[in-house]
Amino acid sequence: MNRMYLICPGCAEPFTLRLGIGATKGTRFYLPCPHCSLPIRGSMSGSSLENHRVDMEAGQYTGSEPSVVVTIHPDVPMRHDADSRKSMDLGTFPTLTLAELTGDRAMELFQAMAVGSEAAEDLWPKVARSVEYYLADNRELLMSTLRDIWGRESELPSETAHERASLTNGAMVVVWRQIVGPETQGDPFIRSYWEKDRAAFTECPKYIEMAQTLESDGTLSGIQRLVIDQLNTFIRTFESWRMGILPRLLDEAAKQKVDGLRVFRDEFSTLRDLYLQGFEVVCKTLRFAMAAHNTVERGDPDDFGPQAPPGVSDQKRNPPPNLKGYDRLANADKLCYVRNVPEWSEWADYLNSTIRNTVGHATARHELTTGRIVADRLPEDITYLNLMAAVFDVFDALAAGAQLVHRQRVLGSPDFARVEESKEARQR
Ligand SMILES: [Zn+2]
Repeated sequence: MNRMYLICPGCAEPFTLRLGIGATKGTRFYLPCPHCSLPIRGSMSGSSLENHRVDMEAGQYTGSEPSVVVTIHPDVPMRHDADSRKSMDLGTFPTLTLAELTGDRAMELFQAMAVGSEAAEDLWPKVARSVEYYLADNRELLMSTLRDIWGRESELPSETAHERASLTNGAMVVVWRQIVGPETQGDPFIRSYWEKDRAAFTECPKYIEMAQTLESDGTLSGIQRLVIDQLNTFIRTFESWRMGILPRLLDEAAKQKVDGLRVFRDEFSTLRDLYLQGFEVVCKTLRFAMAAHNTVERGDPDDFGPQAPPGVSDQKRNPPPNLKGYDRLANADKLCYVRNVPEWSEWADYLNSTIRNTVGHATARHELTTGRIVADRLPEDITYLNLMAAVFDVFDALAAGAQLVHRQRVLGSPDFARVEESKEARQR
């Protein structure tokens, strides 16, 4: 923690700021004046101590050390009135605070944060390049980029479109897993989806034909482009939401404790855009999960059964007649169908319509006096940390959505059916 002597631009009283500083491409933060509570804004950037730069609305104080202290950190939830010379309470020291909150799981948190940052900063730019070459069908540069990621010596099967799709997707999965860590609902969801998908394509020709149609008219590559651009936007702003992993590792008692602390970051507009756009894009991929489920349950990807699931907005309304009808439903209703598949309900909870409505409200804003996200006439407000956690969840859901689209592209690729046939022939 750095100590700085500052003077409030409002009440003109001096104070000592204890500011947590880390490597950052650019972070906006704020601090409440310890005398008059005025929120004072600031920003920092720099990859090392030598080039680190902090700018603030407050002027420098040149007198002797002011006795009134304010403590903030742009990543870690802190207590702004904590004074390290008077106490060591939770919210005074960043690393201790994280360790105390997570208890036995502290190492898990520190490791996940380190691995996640490395994946976002070092691995993702390469993977993003390979994805661009894959989408542009530039085979030569795709393979040289992939060899760079996986190591030059490895033999990569790349003859068919779906082999190249799987190699590119494999690299994306590594980044996803490294960013979200072990505590993800994406895993059980995708495992269950794979099972349904396998049963669906072996038993129902219509299931593959639908993928082939969407592949040949360009729909699938269009959705894939949308999903990948969105993943790219998330990962390139990873700093802004990486602490969203913390609530996943907290027990109930620690969740209560963290509510008394505050993250002093001020990037609401970034988080809002990620949340709203990510939510929207994931919902465009849900039809692929439902197609597999419908096929397994009722032998037809278009068959949503006789009754709408509990929770849809209009209970009297019949289920959609087909997947096209499902696409026209409101996102909250689309999610209801997914949530009612038992193995998928916890994953679907990553997309929270209440938070979506609060964050998406025209009056939604970050209230710097309380550190909460509020919107007029809406009863629900949430802490800044919980918004970071919600963005983290949407990223996790979006990465799983990318798997659904990838799988459809493999199914719909012109050489896929031929390869499956030859496998079967060999087995015979
Ligand atoms: Zn003041």
